[in-house]
Amino acid sequence: MKLPDWLRVVLGGNKVKEGSMPRDFFNPPPEGQRIVLVDEAAVRQAQRRIESCEQCNSDGAEFPFDLLLDRLTGSDPNVTDYILESPAKCPRCRRDILEKTLVEPA
Ligand SMILES: [Zn+2]
Repeated sequence: MKLPDWLRVVLGGNKVKEGSMPRDFFNPPPEGQRIVLVDEAAVRQAQRRIESCEQCNSDGAEFPFDLLLDRLTGSDPNVTDYILESPAKCPRCRRDILEKTLVEPA
């Protein structure tokens, strides 16, 4: 079975896969939007680029975590939404970091 073309999967090592691992809980996004599923290894990789988060550093954290994911995956931020397979952890306070959590890049 093939993934719908609006769904991409980012694997650790920046490999991007379009077309397997179907998940039935996805509803298709609006026209032109893409959903990117970020696997755990890719989450960990993005996490290494974080210094702190809004929960422990409200002054320094000003970039949403998904901005780092855009850079990691080379995706267009205007049309891309992310789903994390598991939350990233802040290296400083160990709290969960989700797609829209503000972070301070390392
Ligand atoms: Zn933190």
